[in-house]
Amino acid sequence: MADYCVWNLCNSNCIMCTNPQGFRNREDAKDYSADKVLKRILSEKDKLVKSGVDINLTGGEPTIHPEFIYLLENLRKEFPNNTIAFASNGRRLAYGKFTRKLLKINNLRLHVVVHSAESKIHNGITRVPDSYEQTVKGLENLFKYKNDTHMVELRTVLLQQNYKKIDELYEMLYKKFPSADRVSTIFPEYEGRAETNFEQVKITFLEVRPHIEDSLEKWGKKFRNFYLYHFPLCVINSDFWEHVIRSLPPDHHETFFMDKCEDCFYKDSCLGVYKDYVRHFGKDHFKPIEKKIAGIEKNREDYHRPIIKN
Ligand code: SF4
Repeated sequence: MADYCVWNLCNSNCIMCTNPQGFRNREDAKDYSADKVLKRILSEKDKLVKSGVDINLTGGEPTIHPEFIYLLENLRKEFPNNTIAFASNGRRLAYGKFTRKLLKINNLRLHVVVHSAESKIHNGITRVPDSYEQTVKGLENLFKYKNDTHMVELRTVLLQQNYKKIDELYEMLYKKFPSADRVSTIFPEYEGRAETNFEQVKITFLEVRPHIEDSLEKWGKKFRNFYLYHFPLCVINSDFWEHVIRSLPPDHHETFFMDKCEDCFYKDSCLGVYKDYVRHFGKDHFKPIEKKIAGIEKNREDYHRPIIKN
């Protein structure tokens, strides 16, 4: 996957946004005109075409780029075989005309973030009144107008505000959008505004574990794919490791292995622990798995899905 930032502005104001302070400067938006972004991406055309990797458009909120459809149409022409992916708060999808036009472009993967099944909690996280209603309407449009070349991932980031009610969120998503290709639950990274608002949003693996395990038990097999991102293996019962995705590429620098990880049988299948997590909470929440667990196999074929359950 190759990441390209296509827009720095956003129509939400999430308390756990990982973008740095000052990123949403209106003056800087001029650096993201569609033609400038296209030029940047096209300068790597040969590499992208040859590798066939997904082209991941980041922001800000990409869908509020004033030339977003033009940008996508041109990328589609230049890269007919690469999937184009982007994360969105889904609010602009509430406008049916926009969504219909967007979904005329094939082979897109949309990651739409929903924070809660309760409007009050969701809107408290985005800090925008009515954003929940817009996101849900946006998802309804998305599932109404999408075709088989479009993939939809529904995401949520665990925070103090929502983790105890995560079960209700999965229930709502299953009732309303059972055909989602993936449902993903993300442990937060404490960067940007999430670091500034750390006291407001902070949670530990110990706190979320019982809620996540109960939900995995109930919903894990119901959705087509149910993923956990940014979780080391030892913070979740091995019964659920098949859902744990190694969410960063092998050459990333955000996580590391502690000295005690050397005693862990599953170290070579684990993401490691986030440096910022250890900086805030220490190393006590992690415990090496000293021997092989019956029925839990390492998957050598797929780096991102490191565990298979027999
Ligand atoms: S002890 Fe270390 S290597 Fe083992 S699962 Fe935990 S974080 Fe991963």
